[in-house]
Amino acid sequence: MEVKKRESVKRGVLIALSAVILLGVVALLFLYRPTDVKLPLLDTKEMMREVSPEWEKPGKYWVTYRETPNVLEGENEVAGIVLHHTAYEGSADRVVKDLCDPSNPVSCHVVIDKDGTRYILAPPEAITWHAGFSKWGNRYRANLFMIGIEFQGNTLVEPLTEAQIESAIEYMRPIIEKYNISADNIVTHQMIRDAYREANPKNKKAWPKVDITPEEYERVRNALDTARLLKF
Ligand SMILES: [Zn+2]
Repeated sequence: MEVKKRESVKRGVLIALSAVILLGVVALLFLYRPTDVKLPLLDTKEMMREVSPEWEKPGKYWVTYRETPNVLEGENEVAGIVLHHTAYEGSADRVVKDLCDPSNPVSCHVVIDKDGTRYILAPPEAITWHAGFSKWGNRYRANLFMIGIEFQGNTLVEPLTEAQIESAIEYMRPIIEKYNISADNIVTHQMIRDAYREANPKNKKAWPKVDITPEEYERVRNALDTARLLKF
């Protein structure tokens, strides 16, 4: 009897010890967080683009197509390019939605996001609504013969990113080459609005347009020059 009792006490102690050790191990597994191991952050946006048929990467930057209904019947001459900024600090997606909203009579051909992503809203040959009251050379209604590029952001607050300029060059190159667009016809919204206002000082609806700054325009011109796309 004495031996049996001792045996069962021994067994009890062993079981208790095992339980304590097991609990300790489980607790350690739960509590231990290695601090020196950093897992790489996955860029889900990039991953989604890789597999989505809505996205393509024909050059260095991502491109997607969102057809805007805000176009006029007829064909754009594509004799020039008007540069704009969206003056909106939020996401480019929001801007694109607005430019594709049929209740909002505004559009353009492409929106270029800060990371260089391009949202193509219409082919160059479409007549979009980006210029409003405008004049260039001796012609009015720039929408009919010029395409519109919107840079996401507000250049009065923050300059264009290098990616935006590079992506714009990537976008403009085939268009400038195909339509032989002259350097004189690559302008800013402000330039075509000022020309209109000078000729029509009585039109109170054509208020002065503040758009992409002359400094940022100059940067785009310099990039076009480096890319040998300024044709005089
Ligand atoms: Zn504009």
